[in-house]
Amino acid sequence: MCGIVGAIAERNIVPILIEGLRRLEYRGYDSAGVAVVDDTGKLGLCRTTGKVAELADKLSGSPLKGRVGVAHTRWATHGGVTENNAHPHVSGERVAVIHNGIIENFQSIKDELVAKGYERQSETDTEVAAHLLHDYLQQGHDLLGAMQQAVKLFQGAFALLAIDAESPDRIVVSRVA
Ligand code: GLU
Repeated sequence: MCGIVGAIAERNIVPILIEGLRRLEYRGYDSAGVAVVDDTGKLGLCRTTGKVAELADKLSGSPLKGRVGVAHTRWATHGGVTENNAHPHVSGERVAVIHNGIIENFQSIKDELVAKGYERQSETDTEVAAHLLHDYLQQGHDLLGAMQQAVKLFQGAFALLAIDAESPDRIVVSRVA
């Protein structure tokens, strides 16, 4: 079972995200990652196929800092245990998404997004959420509107958290049971 954590505050939230992942470790997982929007408005990403402690080590070598971010421990359902398949998944250097569960109809959505020019970045179902949110943002929706549009298309049971480098004052969350 995967773990998903989001944090937003007036201080660096990376330690909060790592602590959140540590508390969820008992659920079991195969890889871990974190994404933040830093104070210059850039999206930063760090992922590993190791344990949360290895993610923390990796982060101490190349620190990320930000006041909004998301973090994930993955239990792979679609795609092998690789760094590329680990969450968060990013689109357009703007949107970062973490996901628990399965988007059952991801393949047809992925094919449409690739036809639109999005690059296949992983073997996961999750990747479509990042690209679709990016596409809706480009069409003028805000992050909440983009999420509302995206989940209308998805079949399955899942939870999604998303951040947008261009609106660092919010995390949008969706749960479809
Ligand atoms: N289906 C997603 C994947 O394979 C999410 C799995 C999970 O819930 O950790 O990456």
